[in-house]
Amino acid sequence: MPELPEVETLRRGLERHLRHRRIIAAEVMGPRTIRRHEPDKLHNFLVGNLVSACGRHGKYLIVSMENGVNMVIHLRMTGRLEIVRPPFLGDAKHLHARFILDNGSELLFFDPRTFGEIFISEKTAGKGLPEELSSLGPDSLSQDFTLGYFTKVAKKREVAVKGLLLEQETVAGIGNIYGDEICHEAGVLPMKKASLLTDGELSRLHKAVGGILSKAVEHKGSTLSDKKYLDITGSEGTYQYHHKVYSKAGMPCESCGDTIVRTKVTGRSCHYCPTCQK
Ligand SMILES: [Zn+2]
Repeated sequence: MPELPEVETLRRGLERHLRHRRIIAAEVMGPRTIRRHEPDKLHNFLVGNLVSACGRHGKYLIVSMENGVNMVIHLRMTGRLEIVRPPFLGDAKHLHARFILDNGSELLFFDPRTFGEIFISEKTAGKGLPEELSSLGPDSLSQDFTLGYFTKVAKKREVAVKGLLLEQETVAGIGNIYGDEICHEAGVLPMKKASLLTDGELSRLHKAVGGILSKAVEHKGSTLSDKKYLDITGSEGTYQYHHKVYSKAGMPCESCGDTIVRTKVTGRSCHYCPTCQK
């Protein structure tokens, strides 16, 4: 599933291609993608309107329109966005939605497994976020995700630290890949109970969240061997070449030479170095 760095890379692509453009048509081919409301709502609220900004919170993309509504997009497992100049000559088999812009280019939404979704949000809650996203924690790369906040939340929780990092209600944007990489960077075992973390460990974890995610954004995210994640123009990210533990079970740790171990933590696969992480 795309995580913050991949979604941020897509946001930057949307900003470049959609901002100040007018949407002249919105077509829905896959009704499951638009499942929170009638598919027609997409057409009714978007067509004829200008895109004023392209934002993000955690793994959600937020396309803001000049009429005050937001189009919210979540890719889930296999959703993919692509900007094209027609005619589109690729495989349209899993094409579920299409947005035509006033400059002739088109934004396409593909999703083989159909877990992804798009919806129109008419109301905003605190900090201008769409109301539907109000249960999410602060974005992992925002000023709101402070060490003080993270410490306060972690001290109260009996969950494994990797599980805590993946809870979108606690901090939004981290998934399985970056959860492993953050724990390794901080030198903390992913299965360690959050409430038992020392102040030093909490500080290292908080710093690693910002450090790892920012570096991954610079590399335009991680494209794994399944090629499920590509940016809006179809290019691969390169952060997969900088992973230290994720998907490296049985390989030597770059820092200490010990063998990377794979296990399960809160039901998810998890990779760590038994020497570097305590
Ligand atoms: Zn190591």
